Amino acid sequence: MKSGFSRVGIVGAGQLGRMLALAAYPLGLSPLLLDKSADAPAAALAPMLVGDLEDPALLAELAARSDVLTFDWENISGTALAPLEPLIAIRPSAAALAVSQDRLLEKALFARLKMPVAPHARVDEPADLERAIRRLGAPGILKTRRLGYDGKGQYVVRTATDAESAWGQLGSSRVGAAGLIYERFQSFSREVSIIGARSVDGRMVAYPLSANTHVGGILRYATAPYVNRKLERLARIYLRRVLDELDYVGVLAIEFFVVNGRLIANEMAPRVHNSGHWTIEGCITSQFENHLRAICGLPLGSTRPLGATAMINFIGNLPDRARLLELEGLSFHDYGKAARPGRKLGHCTILKSAAGDRNEALANALKLIEWT
Ligand code: AMP
Repeated sequence: MKSGFSRVGIVGAGQLGRMLALAAYPLGLSPLLLDKSADAPAAALAPMLVGDLEDPALLAELAARSDVLTFDWENISGTALAPLEPLIAIRPSAAALAVSQDRLLEKALFARLKMPVAPHARVDEPADLERAIRRLGAPGILKTRRLGYDGKGQYVVRTATDAESAWGQLGSSRVGAAGLIYERFQSFSREVSIIGARSVDGRMVAYPLSANTHVGGILRYATAPYVNRKLERLARIYLRRVLDELDYVGVLAIEFFVVNGRLIANEMAPRVHNSGHWTIEGCITSQFENHLRAICGLPLGSTRPLGATAMINFIGNLPDRARLLELEGLSFHDYGKAARPGRKLGHCTILKSAAGDRNEALANALKLIEWT
């Protein structure tokens, strides 16, 4: 007899759903997807219900045919999930999703848990923005509280005179109308993220830190493990606080700015995360497998790294596959998406099996960036 759940309903069938599905089969799990697009990246890998992600009938069917529900896309409203809560395990919970959907709630949670955050203010109308710039200073970034990703829904305010155009750009947008946040610009030396998993019985595993480089708000490349004992210790403490506070089950990622040797929490993702793709080849157990293990009530796997890795995103177009595959230790991931400017179409990871090869992994990453 199998212990734990085996039918996994996944809301959203993007590249994260695809990599979850790929990790599900060896564990004997059966994924079932829900996505609005019949040719979503994960569609070729598992059966799928097609329609709106918040369609009550489709969500009910997904729940009826699954043992546990999870997410490739976290922006599902609590209202859509509420009728399912008595029927099925939702992991992570709707409450955890609700916090992560709103930058203001997220920052309030971090602050409550004594995690440093960038000084920020809620902005609902033009006068709020002017006040916020006066109080917090410029430069800063005006962001939509909801539905921002890959630098979308953000406007850099260089000086107070940018306020009007920032408001014009975001305040009148549909997503912006649901609220904005102004944050003081952080002069960070580096961006890092920690990814960890928490099991139903409260055990936690965490991956080594990843150092992340964004261009235009989109993750361009990540190198891991980023070795810094002090920051790693701190990040693990913060991760633990958030996971326990939310009674979280599954994988969670937290992104930080490193400013003067301190970690400033920027945001979290209640799911597997792009900065953790290196764990597929770079760790004993990938973030995808650990997410599935956690939500299905199975023991969590080792997060021990197997060497030094660099992960490079393919954005807008795919590079020449054959050319990259010539490189030793390189793994290629094509998400099966149509090319479009600014769209993440795939990634590659280069693994150097000895930790001492960290500089070489980084040098390779930089070289690959010119190729991709
Ligand atoms: P986010 O969507 O908040 O993760 O922002 C995307 C990227 O924009 C971050 O990874 C940073 O590179 C940059 N960014 C966002 N907020 C700030 C900030 N307050 N100060 C400096 N850079 C930021």
